[in-house]
Amino acid sequence: MADPFAILLIHFKGDTAQPFQRSWYEELFSEKGKGQMLLYDWFLDVSHGRADLTGTKVFGWYELDLKMADYTGSGASPAARQAQQDFLALCKQKARDEGVALDDYRGVVVVLNTGRDLFGGPAGAVGGDDGQDLDVSGLSPAFMEQEMTHVFGLDHSKRADMPDVEYGDWWDAMSNLTPYLTPSPTRTNRSVRGDAVYPIGPGLNAANMLALGWFDETRLWKQSGERFSETVVLRPLHRLDLGGWLAAQLDDLVVEFRVPDRWDAGIPGPAVLVHYFEGKSSWQVADGSGRLGWGVGSSLRPADAPGDAGGVEFGYGDITVTAIDPVGLTATVQLDRSPAKVPQYFPEWWPTRKRWIEAGVVEIGSFFGTGVEIGVGLGVGVGGDGGVLFTTAGDETVLHSPNFEIPKVGLRVDAARLAVDLQQDFEI
Ligand SMILES: [Zn+2]
Repeated sequence: MADPFAILLIHFKGDTAQPFQRSWYEELFSEKGKGQMLLYDWFLDVSHGRADLTGTKVFGWYELDLKMADYTGSGASPAARQAQQDFLALCKQKARDEGVALDDYRGVVVVLNTGRDLFGGPAGAVGGDDGQDLDVSGLSPAFMEQEMTHVFGLDHSKRADMPDVEYGDWWDAMSNLTPYLTPSPTRTNRSVRGDAVYPIGPGLNAANMLALGWFDETRLWKQSGERFSETVVLRPLHRLDLGGWLAAQLDDLVVEFRVPDRWDAGIPGPAVLVHYFEGKSSWQVADGSGRLGWGVGSSLRPADAPGDAGGVEFGYGDITVTAIDPVGLTATVQLDRSPAKVPQYFPEWWPTRKRWIEAGVVEIGSFFGTGVEIGVGLGVGVGGDGGVLFTTAGDETVLHSPNFEIPKVGLRVDAARLAVDLQQDFEI
């Protein structure tokens, strides 16, 4: 199924410059640019062939009844955000008035003859380029990858240990201007500072692909059963042409392999990446040493925690990278999981190096609605009188040691303190 976009060439009132030929825009966005490492190729590659921009058409130029000086978008304030949405609506109305059947298209990109603004969301995307090569172009594939993927519903990618950083995942197209962009091989303009005007990449991570339905799930390794110990060989995430697994999923965590090639040519080297998806964003997870690009020896293994009291395994699986072959294009990961046990030690660094476990609503059993699952079949909750530890097996939820003291601030649970309390109060 194709996902064609309507590309609307728009200028503000009285500013009728047309920086490029129509074919320049057509090749940038549509199948006419096939093989040029532009947006048609990017979407196909990062969706395992599912996001197909075939049929994308360029319309315009259309002149708005709005001067650029009167445009009040661009910025993060609510008023600016509203102005952006109003502007999109104005552009779409203009196109409709000109006879464009916008409903026939999966999305809309407004293309300006100026870099006045750059944004995207479900209602559409806006970018522009004046052709002056002064800076990175708002129509660089790197930016348009993100803005057009916003149209499909994704938000920015983040890293789990720095949740307040808006563009935290340097390996992912849903983080802006990462250091891991690479110059376009076909649009080679340089700014006066020497920067590539049209950077491309990086690719889209597996958690984001899965969230959009863009991952070929016949190529996704999934756990079977509660207990397993498996060696999984991964191929580079976007290499549908190579045989084998393209990602592995353990509960919420998705494990993928990326190599410095094509869209990912700017990444520092072959790396295994781990993410989960929550809200509308992917969240990148560091290994036990805090590395985001996992290498050989990287692992997420609570039992290795300093001061571990007893090698306790948690419900989530252990992930270890055992080999990376940059020539054969494989990464080998060991995936292990044992059923949840009552822990003697709560590692405050797991899974995101946060001492505080953010409690959420857990729909397990009917005993309480506020808690956090800290492993498969294992969780803590905060009740009216104190804390509870619960384990689950099938449909059955068992509460243990009700009303022991969980220090709490709002709905946050202090994992380290809880560990101490558990060791004192709970018979293992
Ligand atoms: Zn964005």
